[in-house]
Amino acid sequence: MAFIEFENVEKKYIVGDLAITAVDDCSFSIEKNELVVILGPSGAGKTTVLNLLGGMDSPSDGNITVDGNEIHKYNKKELINYRRNDIGFVFQFYNLVENLTALENVELACQICPNSLDPKTILEKVGLSERISNFPSQLSGGEQQRVAIARAVAKNPKLLLCDEPTGALDSVTGQRIIELLQKNCKKMGMTTVIITHNTVIADVADKVIKIKNGTVKDIIINKNPKKAE
Ligand code: ADP
Ligand code: ADP
Repeated sequence: MAFIEFENVEKKYIVGDLAITAVDDCSFSIEKNELVVILGPSGAGKTTVLNLLGGMDSPSDGNITVDGNEIHKYNKKELINYRRNDIGFVFQFYNLVENLTALENVELACQICPNSLDPKTILEKVGLSERISNFPSQLSGGEQQRVAIARAVAKNPKLLLCDEPTGALDSVTGQRIIELLQKNCKKMGMTTVIITHNTVIADVADKVIKIKNGTVKDIIINKNPKKAE
């Protein structure tokens, strides 16, 4: 069994009398330590897939197994523990706490996690040792995203989930962020899933899962992913 098995997953949202099918008979697998990009146009169901993987939402049908655990069977309390201990999230708009410094943002995330790593060491690894006492408003977009990555990685999660991590950055800064994610993934043994509609990002992935209208259209295995510096 692969590290992640997504089997015939369906997610319907009920809005008034309407049922909106965001994800429909969607299946794929992800191996441990793989860097995977989920690629698709706006409305394809990418965010829904990421939310299902991260235990932010439960499927209407189908099975989701992560590291041998059937997370589609989890109750509320198990989902909270799963999100807290096993998942790191990186968002498009960083979502840092504005009145905490870079270091405090990372420390806050680590406080409740049993496996967390040393916040200062991780901030060094993302190239921010000079910036640990700065507040988010004193940092560039790329630096804020580095703090957000450090915050997610410092929890030492099994799975790092990134929602359009370069969406708010210029292309050079975005490329650096992707290189950083690739390095992290390989060095720290962290399985990483990035959702994007940017085809350039897909070059660094071990596997690209193309989705459209809530279902998998193609899975491309990249034997020779473009290497980070
Ligand atoms: P993407 O991330 O690829 O842009 P989403 O997963 O956000 O796609 O959305 C897929 C489809 O599901 C869209 O039609 C969207 O409007 C719908 N959808 C997503 N979340 C909800 C929700 N909470 N309630 C109703 N419809 C939703
Ligand atoms: P993306 O940036 O990936 O395209 P969206 O803008 O589609 O993401 O969605 C952002 C958030 O809004 C997601 O959490 C999604 O579940 C929710 N969402 C998307 N479409 C709808 C909708 N029609 N109704 C309610 N919530 C939605």
